[in-house]
Order: sequence, then C-alpha cells, then structure tokens
Amino acid sequence: MKFGFDIDDTLINLREHAFNLYKTKLGKELSHEDFLAIDRVEIHEPFGLSDDEGKEMWNRSLEEIYFTDCPAFPGAIETLNNLEKQGHEIFYITARPKEHGERTKQWMRDQGFPIHEDRFYYGMKDDEKIHIIKDLDLDYYVDDKPGVLETLLDTSVKLFIKDQSYNRKIEIPRITNWLDFQRLI
Ligand SMILES: [Mg+2]
Repeated sequence: MKFGFDIDDTLINLREHAFNLYKTKLGKELSHEDFLAIDRVEIHEPFGLSDDEGKEMWNRSLEEIYFTDCPAFPGAIETLNNLEKQGHEIFYITARPKEHGERTKQWMRDQGFPIHEDRFYYGMKDDEKIHIIKDLDLDYYVDDKPGVLETLLDTSVKLFIKDQSYNRKIEIPRITNWLDFQRLI
C-alpha cells in the first residue's frame, strides 16, 4: 500500500515547538494549557500579537522553528518505520517552502523517519497537494488541515486527520495517538 503523510502538526509537534520558542523570545510565561486553548492554526494570539505581527514573527523564526529540536508526536516515527518494514511505501507531502525542502528531508531522516529520496514532496500550496496525492495514487493520506483533506473527499484515497484543536469540526477518521494508527486502517 502507498501511505502519504503531511509533516507539520501531523507527524511532528511544530506549533507547540514554535509556541515554546516564542515564549523564550518574547519572555512571556504561558502554559501548555494556554497552548491547547488556541483554536486556530496560528499561535500568536496569546502573545498579544496582531495577525500581521504574528506572521512576521513566524517568518523571522522559521529557521529555528523548522531545524532545531521539534519533537515528533509519540509513536509517529515507530509507526512509519513499522509500515515500511511491512513493505508499504511511505510518501511525505509538505507545503514547506521549496528553499527548505531538501534540508527538511535530511532533518526528517535525522529524526529517524524512513525517507526515500524520490518519495518526498514539498513546496506546493495546501490546495495543490491534491495533484501529487492523485498522481501518486495513494491508498492513505494523513493531514491536520481540514482545508487540505476537503479537497480529497471525492477521491478514493482513504483519509485520516491528525487530531488538533482547530480541526474538531470535520468528520474524518481521526488519529489522536499514532500508536493506534495501524489498528485504525
Ligand atoms: Mg500540517
């Protein structure tokens, strides 16, 4: 089978990693609960930043957000390696900008994710992921963003959503713990 995965906030806890970096950079005391209470993708509001300031902060911090020690979600690395060992093909489809694509591939490899050179796609917009996913004829695809998954509802790809505070309204089979994934499929 062919399995496709988004990376950020699907396999790795990028938003909370960025939230923690912001706390240090902006010297603000906020808790894990404050993080969980954010019901949108963007994380700047608890720091008192406007949308424009938040965007600027994100872009300015991007190098650090992407390439430091962002943790994978528990069980994600193990689950993907198990799938690979069972003979399945693992694809990554991330909207990370082109200029960060190759370094992201190496960073993911360094974390222990199973990576094949030719099964790693980056640099497309969220709503353009559908083309790659269709061309690859994936059997399964997992993402955290409702907007991405909604473009795939009419296809034969079996969809899963990685549970996040901002995606609870969409009714798609949901992964709350990566260790359950193989039981769900
Ligand atoms: Mg994502």
